[in-house]
Amino acid sequence: MSHELRTPMNAILGFAQIMNHDPEKILTRQYRENIYHILKAGQHLKLLIDEVLDLAVVESGKIELTLENLPIGPVIREIISQMEPLRRAFDIQITTDNLTDSEHIIQADRMRFMQILINLMSNAIKYNRKGGRVTVSVLEEKNRKVSIRIQDTGVGITEEKLESIFEPFNRLNFEFGEIEGTGIGLNITKELVERMGGTIHVKSKVNEGSSFIVSFPSTDNSATESTPEDKRIEGNELLTGEEQVKILCVEDSPINLHLIEKILKTKPNFTLLKSQTAELGIELAQKEGPDIILMDIRLPGIDGFAAFDKLRSDSRTQSIPVIAVTAHAMPEDIRKAEKMGFNAYLTKPLDVDVFFKTLEELCRKD
Ligand code: ADP
Repeated sequence: MSHELRTPMNAILGFAQIMNHDPEKILTRQYRENIYHILKAGQHLKLLIDEVLDLAVVESGKIELTLENLPIGPVIREIISQMEPLRRAFDIQITTDNLTDSEHIIQADRMRFMQILINLMSNAIKYNRKGGRVTVSVLEEKNRKVSIRIQDTGVGITEEKLESIFEPFNRLNFEFGEIEGTGIGLNITKELVERMGGTIHVKSKVNEGSSFIVSFPSTDNSATESTPEDKRIEGNELLTGEEQVKILCVEDSPINLHLIEKILKTKPNFTLLKSQTAELGIELAQKEGPDIILMDIRLPGIDGFAAFDKLRSDSRTQSIPVIAVTAHAMPEDIRKAEKMGFNAYLTKPLDVDVFFKTLEELCRKD
C-alpha cells in the first residue's frame, strides 16, 4: 500500500517543486500562488500518508523492534540539532538538564526511540508561545528506570482534553488553527513506548505549559560498547565543484525517471544515465563507472537490495556510493538499507532540496 500511495504523490510534489523553482521566471504571481497551495496541501497529504501507514503497522503488532543498550544523552543531542529549523521558526529556546554522554542507558529500539522524542519535542515547540522554552531533562527513577521529561511553556491542555490526547486524529481544536499536524503522532508514540516496555504520562496547566514524561527500563552502564557501529560505506572517489558528476538512476517507473531527469537538468554539472531494471543498471555501472547510483528498491527483476549486493561484490562498482530512492519509507526498510551499507536513503515523494543536499554531500567526500 505504501508504494501505491506514495508513487502518485511523488509525481505531484516533484513536478510542483520543479514549477516552483521556475528558473526562467515565466510564471505570474497568480500561478505561483496556485503552486504554493498544491505544495502545501501535497505536503500535508504526504504527512498524513506517512503517519497513517505507520499507525497501521504499529497497531497491527507487526513492527520489528531491535532493542539495544542505548545511551540516551547522544541521541537527545542529535534530536535537538535536528529540531533547529523548527526551533528557529517558532522562536523557542531549548535547554537540557542532567544530560550525560555515557550514563543513562536504556533498552530501546534506536529509530523508534528517536521517533518518540521527535514527536514530543516538535509538539513542545509547535504548541508553545513565541519566545518560549522547551526543557529536556533526564530523570533517574527507582526500579531501574530512566525517564525523559519534555517540558514546555506553551498553551497547555485542559483536564478534559487531556483525557483524549492519545486518541488518533484528535487535534483538540488545533485543526482550526495555523499549526500543522495530523493528530496521529501521540497515538503512535504511546503505542511505541508501551511496545518497548515503557510508559508515558502527561501533566499540563492551561497557559503555563505541559510536561510529557516517557520512562524506559534502564540497563547497566558497562553495556555501552554494544551499540551498533556505523557500517555505512563512505563515498570516496567523487568529483567536486564544477566538474561533471555522472549519475546512474535505476528506476522502473517512466514518470519517476522523467522527474529525476527534470530535477537534474536544473544543475548543469550532472549527467544522467538511466535504467529501468536492476540487471541493466548493474551492467551500465560496470561499463560507465558513474559517480553516484540512485537505486529504486521495488523493481521488476531483482530488487534494489539484491542489486546493491551485486554492486558491492564487484571490484568495478564496489566503491560507488549508492542512494536508495524508494517509496518504501517504513523504518524497517530504512534500517535494512542502513545495515547493508547504502550511503543514503531517500523516500518518495522526493524533497528536491534534500535530494540535492544528499548528492552534494556525497560529492564532497574524498
Ligand atoms: P499533531 O501535533 O500532529 O496534531 P499529536 O498526536 O502529536 O498530533 O498531538 C495531538 C494533539 O495534542 C495536538 O493536536 C495538540 O492539540 C495536543 N498537544 C500535543 N502536544 C502538546 C503540547 N506540548 N502542548 C499543548 N498541546 C499539545
